[in-house]
Amino acid sequence: MKILELLEKSGQRHVSAEDVYKMLLEAGEEIGLATVYRVLTQFEAAGLVERNNFEGGYSVFELNRGQHHDHIVCVLCGKVAEFYDETIEKRQQKIAEKYDFEIGDHSLTIYGHCLNADACAKRNEKV
Ligand SMILES: [Zn+2]
Ligand SMILES: [Zn+2]
Repeated sequence: MKILELLEKSGQRHVSAEDVYKMLLEAGEEIGLATVYRVLTQFEAAGLVERNNFEGGYSVFELNRGQHHDHIVCVLCGKVAEFYDETIEKRQQKIAEKYDFEIGDHSLTIYGHCLNADACAKRNEKV
């Protein structure tokens, strides 16, 4: 339950299991990373949280707010932003219709890197 509370209060909407683990340690909780993973996986199965698996094996969790959105991911610092674009959504619907197909779900992830070096912890090191 502590983990759900953390996800609700955190300013960051998208957090990795390691992030959650660190936040719990900072809050003085004695918990193992394996337990954090197990609890997050249970929350996911219960539909409380959504898991996003990004390229390179990077996964983040977010509270399931029931609102569809897509993601932009910085491959350097791991920052995740989300967006919802009406045109893109409609376009996908059109494509599905063209292929005589009904969309169950879709995920769109844009990979790149932060342009603002101050906003990106890793940009100065690698670019
Ligand atoms: Zn999201
Ligand atoms: Zn970045």
